[in-house]
Amino acid sequence: MAKMFIAGESLDSVTGETYEVRNPANGEVVDTAPKGNADDARRSIDAAQAAFDEWSRTSAEERANLLFKTAEIVEAERKSLSELLTREQGKPFQESNTEIEHFLHGLEFYAGLASKVRGAQVPLPAKNAYGMVVRKPLGVCGAIVPWNFPITLMGTKVGPALAAGNTVVVKPASTTPLTTIRIIEMMNEAGLPKGVLNVVTGPGSIVGEELLRNPKVRRIAFTGESATGKHIASVACGEFKRVTLELGGSDPMIVCDDAEIPKAITGAMVGRFWNAGQACLAVKRLYIFDKVFDEFVEGLVSKVSRYEVGDGMTRAEKPKIRMGPLHTSDQRDEIEAQVDDAVSRGARVLIGGARPEGEDYERGFFYQPTILVDVTDDARVVQEETFGPVLPIFRVSSLDEAIERANNNIYGLGSSIWTKNLDNIESAIDRIEAGNVWVNSLHYGYDELPFGGVKASGFGREHGPEALDYYLEPKGVVITR
Ligand code: NDP
Repeated sequence: MAKMFIAGESLDSVTGETYEVRNPANGEVVDTAPKGNADDARRSIDAAQAAFDEWSRTSAEERANLLFKTAEIVEAERKSLSELLTREQGKPFQESNTEIEHFLHGLEFYAGLASKVRGAQVPLPAKNAYGMVVRKPLGVCGAIVPWNFPITLMGTKVGPALAAGNTVVVKPASTTPLTTIRIIEMMNEAGLPKGVLNVVTGPGSIVGEELLRNPKVRRIAFTGESATGKHIASVACGEFKRVTLELGGSDPMIVCDDAEIPKAITGAMVGRFWNAGQACLAVKRLYIFDKVFDEFVEGLVSKVSRYEVGDGMTRAEKPKIRMGPLHTSDQRDEIEAQVDDAVSRGARVLIGGARPEGEDYERGFFYQPTILVDVTDDARVVQEETFGPVLPIFRVSSLDEAIERANNNIYGLGSSIWTKNLDNIESAIDRIEAGNVWVNSLHYGYDELPFGGVKASGFGREHGPEALDYYLEPKGVVITR
């Protein structure tokens, strides 16, 4: 049975209650996890608070060395961690392995930055005086993480928080606590002082809520749905916490008539169907110039037909590519309702559009990769986030039309343009309303660059040296001689 990790100890919940974590591919119980409540959240917050003073005064070099060591220890267990992640989340083993690799890269990135934080000396108009800006860690940080990329999205919060000298309480999604718990145990085994990094499990509405309201928590980093984000912002900002929100997205991808079509087809395919489409920065609306529309769509449908849905622990025979199940039954219901809605408004299904048939699929939440054309702009797949393997494709006659339709959406997370024309590239960078623009590139969040959204996709940034700014408070100092 998995346990929470608080103040250097593996613990059951205060009530002793547990719940089952099930494999989305076959419904089997992977393990049980403690069903924590507000008391559990409070004891983890207290542990993080008690550890803060000493940790914040540890030298940056020592923090960096410890973070590098945690990465080394986790790396040694990568295979078993990837298996566990596949079993609790559903994604294919190779994708889990890539997720752990991304997590480790991010940890090392922030370990390297720990000793490179700079303040400033400022000339002042007052006589014999000068100012300084010193940058101080905030204290206890709450990291609230969703189920789609449980490990990388935990790392994007824990890495900069610890590097900057803060302490952390992680609250994983209820359906994906297991790999997170194991990694946090291992990071503690690497030598993090007790209470610096804790994990508390249980319902977001109880455990997460305590993180939002408890005055000892100074900062909330949240990734999840926009509706939950709205609630997080109203409660945590009301408690004067620093908040960053990484929320939903509906990334447009624009393919111009001079694009390198095979490369763009691969970009669309991986960008939409990685993790069975359950990614915030996935390609969710594809706008293709008229001249290359038919060639592109035919090529994409042919490539997508290589996907074979199935248990993420089994490899597909080449040239087939494995796609795992959706994470929950509700998630699949939602995708089916969105596709039905599009079809009822006149959309045509070019591939997929249904659950796979056969005994092998009965116990998992499988759904075929799906491509739609003739989709109207009022369809749910355009207006809402589609968090699954469904891609609506639209024909456009100009870049102006593509950008206007791309921006006609509540979200603004990622976007991409595929062209060799510099004017088109600059237009996209300037005019698309999104936190990120990829040019002839896969929608992917590099650790080196700031990542985050505008509009209903949230505010604040993770990744990049910029993320450290959200974990360090600038303090103004005046010194008079
Ligand atoms: P949710 O918003 O449902 O849950 C996210 C986390 O918040 C979970 O840990 C959940 O706990 C917790 N939570 C729920 N209610 C509360 C509350 N009242 N107080 C505090 N915490 C709470 O999102 P999903 O798990 O469904 O994740 C999918 C969403 O995440 C998608 O919309 C996706 O686009 C977005 N996302 C955004 C990314 C970005 O960087 N912009 C990246 C990846 C995903 P519990 O599981 O116990 O309910």
